[in-house]
Amino acid sequence: MKTAVITGAAKGIGAAVAVAFAKSGFRVVINYNTSEERARQLCKILNDTYPTEAVCIKADVSTPEGAKKLISESISAFGDIDVLINNAGIAQQKLFTDITNADWQSMINTNLSSVFYLCREATPFMVSKKSGNIVNISSIWGQEGGSCEVHYSAAKAGVIGLTKALAKELAPSNITVNCVCPGVIRTDMLSSFTEEDLKALADETPVGRLGTPKDVADAVLYLGTNSGFVTGQVLGVNGGLYV
Ligand code: NAP
Repeated sequence: MKTAVITGAAKGIGAAVAVAFAKSGFRVVINYNTSEERARQLCKILNDTYPTEAVCIKADVSTPEGAKKLISESISAFGDIDVLINNAGIAQQKLFTDITNADWQSMINTNLSSVFYLCREATPFMVSKKSGNIVNISSIWGQEGGSCEVHYSAAKAGVIGLTKALAKELAPSNITVNCVCPGVIRTDMLSSFTEEDLKALADETPVGRLGTPKDVADAVLYLGTNSGFVTGQVLGVNGGLYV
């Protein structure tokens, strides 16, 4: 049985990705930072419902120590890593001039440095067996830039650059590195938006609705299980909002 490690998997998009991989017969590592109860509940549901073995591992992936802990505990649990999904992220809406040094550092550390730390920890295991798939979750704002989200957009654009460069470097080792850019997806990340805001965003989206975590999980499952010829790609899952 293959192993998928998913960061920030207690809820939202990460949880849907964990379900998709568990359903497909992967062993699943559910990483969480603060949502311990939700992580444990999801772990139990996966173990009770699907042909999988799931474990929860607490780690703050915005730090090098947290990333190291997650990968070493995943290896202790399952002995291997086949798929790494870098999903953990935070968002913040602020005028550019109000973004503090601390806001900037926290955004970059959580949304971009985490991807670097985790890929650096996980790739030696993939290189040694010449196989692996990495999927990074960027954002539509990393592609086109979002007003009042300069730090978020910069971090997510960095994820796209990291994905393309690492894909080229790891291709000879038969490891794919791809990236998914969700549009507006209904999760806790949108909790600061009013129902009116969300309706306006849905109306602006050509397919006429907001995305679901499952819409994103389907794309992640495809990229995370592709046979090796799809690499370095940026797949929008946005209902046509950015094409
Ligand atoms: P969410 O429901 O708020 O989930 C975010 C997840 O990230 C949580 O599980 C959280 O874990 C985890 N996380 C945050 N900081 C962490 C840290 N330092 N260490 C470990 N885990 C951490 O949001 P979501 O919408 O599912 O977002 C998932 C990804 O999709 C993010 O990268 C986000 O930027 C991206 N995205 C979302 C949208 C959208 O419209 N929702 C659009 C584009 C891109 P804990 O709760 O355990 O702390």
